[in-house]
Amino acid sequence: MDKQDLASYSFDASFGIHFPEIVIQPVSTDEVARIVKLAYQHTIPICPRGQATSLSGGPLAVEGGIVLDMTKMNQVLDIMPDDLIAIVSPGIITGDIHRAADKYGLMYPPDPSSSAISTIGGNLAENAGGPRGLKYGVTKDYVLGLEVVTPQGEVIRTGSRTVKNVTGYDLTKLIVGAEGTLGIITQAILQLIPKPRATGTLMAIFDDIVTSGKAISQILTSGILPAKMEIMDQACIQAVESYQPNGLPIDAEAILLIEIDGHPRAVEEELVEVAAIFEKIGARKVIIAKTQEESDSLWKARKMVSPAITRVKPTKISEDATVPRSKIPDMFARLKEIRDKYNVNLVVFGHAGDGNLHPNIIADKRDQEEMKRVEMAVAEIFETAIALGGTLSGEHGIGTMKSPFMEMELGVVGLDMMKRIKESWDPKNIMNPGKIFPKPGQKLVLTEG
Ligand SMILES: Cc1cc2nc3c(=O)[nH]c(=O)nc-3n(C[C@H](O)[C@H](O)[C@H](O)COP(=O)(O)OP(=O)(O)OC[C@H]3O[C@@H](n4cnc5c(N)ncnc54)[C@H](O)[C@@H]3O)c2cc1C
Repeated sequence: MDKQDLASYSFDASFGIHFPEIVIQPVSTDEVARIVKLAYQHTIPICPRGQATSLSGGPLAVEGGIVLDMTKMNQVLDIMPDDLIAIVSPGIITGDIHRAADKYGLMYPPDPSSSAISTIGGNLAENAGGPRGLKYGVTKDYVLGLEVVTPQGEVIRTGSRTVKNVTGYDLTKLIVGAEGTLGIITQAILQLIPKPRATGTLMAIFDDIVTSGKAISQILTSGILPAKMEIMDQACIQAVESYQPNGLPIDAEAILLIEIDGHPRAVEEELVEVAAIFEKIGARKVIIAKTQEESDSLWKARKMVSPAITRVKPTKISEDATVPRSKIPDMFARLKEIRDKYNVNLVVFGHAGDGNLHPNIIADKRDQEEMKRVEMAVAEIFETAIALGGTLSGEHGIGTMKSPFMEMELGVVGLDMMKRIKESWDPKNIMNPGKIFPKPGQKLVLTEG
């Protein structure tokens, strides 16, 4: 393969460029098994890859070798309404599963914001979450079984089509979220649920971000569980307004967007109750969407955040440090301090209801001095999340970006137990090497050269 062909497989949506030696596009489990057997025999690194929307470096060939592009393995998308399951190939785009289930009045709840472009294989490997995670959980909560090619090239099946299954160790849950380090997923059995009969949207505008954090905790202890609760801070609001004016108040410090779903009458009542709670705590304004068009227009602002902030500066470092819900106000306060301390362009949005904030730093990677400050700010964000009882990653995975911080969260023994699992599955370390586990002394490096 020439260098130009390999170039399009050398990056993902995170940081760093790593060229593979070869890219292979298998179309069947048998082909995957034969390729992996060969790689095992000759000890060649092999990196599974979906649509490369990873924000943590997951599919990058950091040790060279083979990139296994799984996007051509997209033949199966079977909905079985009587069993409430879907059988899918790994290269299927997640949004296509949503649409297929919808035709039967069913729902596949995990909804990463990248659903329109990411593959279910990538979602499974990263245990992806999304706005609906607040009420419905994440990818691992909807996987009943998998077909996996092991690092030795053997084909195994985990789980089953049944809702309950306690036969032995839960290998399904081990492989989901393993970031392609334990095997290649070649098929999955997903659980579906009945689609809620109605949804309603509400937007609340706050003069002060810490009050919005308190409002989140109040809603969550009020007996109402929204399907989605998303936040945008002032920098996001301003970026969205200058990207595509929507009439958002650029002097507000935070906007919360809520979706309630369920029985139509319950949705109506709960929206009014949530509005009352927000007003009482001091929201500047609360808007309840009366039509689907109004609801779409409120959500448009949130959807615009990613494209809008990357117009500010070209490099986006997108984190997903997550804290216990009660610590959301503290996290907001600490993020403000970190922004000022390192003088970085830090914007915050994300899935506020489950404590999964997305502090994003917008920078220019050509500016080495700025990137040094970004490195220090990112490290302090991780330290803060862990000090508050949280985690390095709520949904984007560890990949290459967060591995230097693993010991800080897991401790020496905890990390060693994970390494031992990896070593027993993959003694030759060919399966997506260089991910999750730090090399001795490895540090986060965002500067080049
Ligand atoms: C704009 C944007 C919004 C995003 N929003 C969200 C969000 O809301 N929630 C969220 O969780 N993430 C989000 N992400 C991150 C990303 O989309 C997810 O991690 C997604 O699951 C990656 O899917 P992919 O097909 O792009 O996989 P890739 O990026 O190609 O790969 C991701 C990982 O999966 C492994 N992998 C891929 N296929 C297989 C397979 N068949 N078997 C084994 N391992 C495999 C790879 O080795 C890698 O480790 C977002 C990204 C972007 C760019």
